[in-house]
Amino acid sequence: MSATVYQSALLFGAPGVGKGTQGEILGSIPGFHHFSMGDAFRNLNPESDLGKEVRTYSSRGELVPDSITIELWRRTVADQVLTGEFDPATELLLLDGIPRNADQAGLLRDSLDVLAVIHLTTSDRQSLFDRLAKRARQQGRADDAKDEVIKRRWDVYQDETQPVLACYPDDVVNDLDALGTPAEVLAKILDVLAPIQAGKFASALG
Ligand code: ADP
Repeated sequence: MSATVYQSALLFGAPGVGKGTQGEILGSIPGFHHFSMGDAFRNLNPESDLGKEVRTYSSRGELVPDSITIELWRRTVADQVLTGEFDPATELLLLDGIPRNADQAGLLRDSLDVLAVIHLTTSDRQSLFDRLAKRARQQGRADDAKDEVIKRRWDVYQDETQPVLACYPDDVVNDLDALGTPAEVLAKILDVLAPIQAGKFASALG
C-alpha cells in the first residue's frame, strides 16, 4: 500500500509574523485543517524524555533535530486522521512551522502535495520583536521571553528556514505583506487558498 499524500499549503514566515494566528482562524473554516509543529512540541508531556529533549533546543531558539521533528509530525498527523480530527479526503492541510529547513522539505516530499506556499513577509523587524515580547507576556512562552533567544530564532529563520522557499516552484510561492489587521491579512490569504481549496475539494464541501 502506498503512503498517503496530503493536499497541503504551507504557512511560512519569520517568528512573530502571524502564522499561528492565521492558521488558527483558517483552521476554523470547513475544509481546512491547521497543523502547528510548535504546538505539537508544546503538547508533549514536559516531564517525558522526548519533552525534555525538545525543550533543550526550543529554549535556546534552535531547531529540534529533523529525525525527531519528522517522526513526531508523522505520528501526530496519523493520530489526527485516526481520531477523525483531520480528513485528508475533504480538508486541505495547512502546515505551520514545518518544513523549517531544506532537509525537512526533502523528507516530506513524498508525503505532501504542496499546492501553495503562503509566505508572510514584513520589512518591519521591530514589530515582530514587539509581537513576540507581547506573546511572552500573554502566553508565558519561555522561548519568547529572552531577547537573545528571540534573536537566535530570527537568525535560524534567516539561515535555515528561508532556503525552504527555493524547494518549491516559484508559481506556488505567494509573497503576502503581513502588515495589517488579522482580517486584512486573512482576506489576502483566502484570495490565494479559497480557489485552490474549491478546485480540489468542491465536490466534498459544496
Ligand atoms: P514561531 O511561532 O515563533 O515560529 P513555533 O511555535 O513554530 O515558533 O516553534 C517553537 C519552537 O519549536 C522552535 O523555535 C523550534 O525550537 C521548535 N520547532 C517548531 N517547528 C520545528 C521544526 N519544523 N523543526 C525543528 N524545530 C521546530
